Amino acid sequence: MSLVEFSNEKILKTLEILDEQNAQTFSFDPVEELLGEDRTSEICSMLGVSADLIKRFREQGLNFDEADKVACKLGEHPSMIWKEWNEIKCIPESLYDAVEEFMRQNKMCGKCKQWINRSNYHKRSASKDGIARYCTPCMKLYEKERRVKREEPKRFNSSSSGIFDGSIGITS
Ligand SMILES: [Zn+2]
Repeated sequence: MSLVEFSNEKILKTLEILDEQNAQTFSFDPVEELLGEDRTSEICSMLGVSADLIKRFREQGLNFDEADKVACKLGEHPSMIWKEWNEIKCIPESLYDAVEEFMRQNKMCGKCKQWINRSNYHKRSASKDGIARYCTPCMKLYEKERRVKREEPKRFNSSSSGIFDGSIGITS
């Protein structure tokens, strides 16, 4: 899939689905049932995970990725272990790479919330990714707003020579 077909709307939809997936948890009970084993040490060696992780699985359940991996270890499709698996919206494997590539090339502007190409941001060495938080058009708008805000009190004072009757609007 080429990135040209990959619109802002599509990436937002995809990220929404990924968020939904990340929020989903799966109970560890059916895994234990399937293993026919409740001794932690045995389960650890069967699944190749640490006791701490088993403890968390039991207390908080498994997330999407963990459930997928555990099912894989058991040689089962996750939907055979968790009935609710089929209700999850899935995105095709090939889209994951496209999403990653898209996110490498674009950044979500903190102001207009659009995914915008990284070349449309000012460089900013102080930030982690080396570019500004807002896209360049938003940055310009933001700076203009800030300038207006700074000048407003001055302008208000300067009108004290006349009568402020409300007809003098503050214009930028
Ligand atoms: Zn913006």
